Amino acid sequence: MLQQTQVQTVIPYFERFCAAFPTLSALAAADEQQVLQLWEGLGYYRRGRQLHAAARVLVETNGGAIPRSRPALEKLPGIGRYTAAAILSLAFDVREAILEANTIRLFARLAALPLETTTAQAQKQLWAISEGVLPRKEVGLFNQALMELGSLICTPQSPQCSACPVADLCLANRKSVQHKIPVVKRRPPVEKIREAAVVICRRKKILLRQCGPKERWSGLWDFPRMQIHPSRKWPAEEQIGEAVRDLTGYSVCLGARFKRMTHAVTRYQITLDCYEAKLASTRRKSGSQKSLRWVSLEELKDMPLSVTGRRIAQQMVEDSRADT
Ligand code: SF4
Repeated sequence: MLQQTQVQTVIPYFERFCAAFPTLSALAAADEQQVLQLWEGLGYYRRGRQLHAAARVLVETNGGAIPRSRPALEKLPGIGRYTAAAILSLAFDVREAILEANTIRLFARLAALPLETTTAQAQKQLWAISEGVLPRKEVGLFNQALMELGSLICTPQSPQCSACPVADLCLANRKSVQHKIPVVKRRPPVEKIREAAVVICRRKKILLRQCGPKERWSGLWDFPRMQIHPSRKWPAEEQIGEAVRDLTGYSVCLGARFKRMTHAVTRYQITLDCYEAKLASTRRKSGSQKSLRWVSLEELKDMPLSVTGRRIAQQMVEDSRADT
């Protein structure tokens, strides 16, 4: 949960997750939809699916026990060198070095590393430093202290060198180059895109589709959603109608736009227009997508949705209250 996500954001999710799945076997026995529902809003849903898959593998092949070696852990879904080393050192005090955002910054500054930190050469040097400084005992405590030092003192924008317990060892501090290190890769420019989501209603039920394995929210449910290409010659309404047919097999009569929201996903800044629609015909194009479900507003509450999908659902609940 903590990968790419701040502790304060994670805490309530972690507590709900552990309350629902107090043991590995409870997690392994859960339905993926249940797992995704508890992950809803945390983002990077792949982590939740992989954690669930890893629990299943451990219960099926290892009697539900967590392996105590890095090679065995790294065979599990979603577990790479850092996660395996973090589990081993923090949970079992095994002598394993870790490298994550905070310690990468810390080590890069301590060594005044003049390289962009994701390059193979820099990674090799950073792993060598993290292995070289490992104590013989209390490795878990030491690794946690390093991460805390990186996150609280050696911060990205304003490192507090005067309060730093390792300032005397720090080459970047000595050379006064701490603000130039770590050398970061220039980010690709933000790209603005337009998308539409369509709320299709029939007899007080709403059509949802489950996102496929290669889609942004794989495994989650969503309103039929598509990108709009302003450069194309035909109008947005026609593009939406065609995309709905491709995604669901249904032809629809598009109604009014009832909501516009903007949100960011990786380097994309997305303007999302939400439309109402009714079926033009109840016949579906054959061979079209199977992962569709008609759900009531009540059922919508229990479906794992993306953040923007949930905001659309909330709007519908509010509108239905206003109507009654
Ligand atoms: S002295 Fe400054 S730059 Fe060096 S590790 Fe400490 S906080 Fe970071």
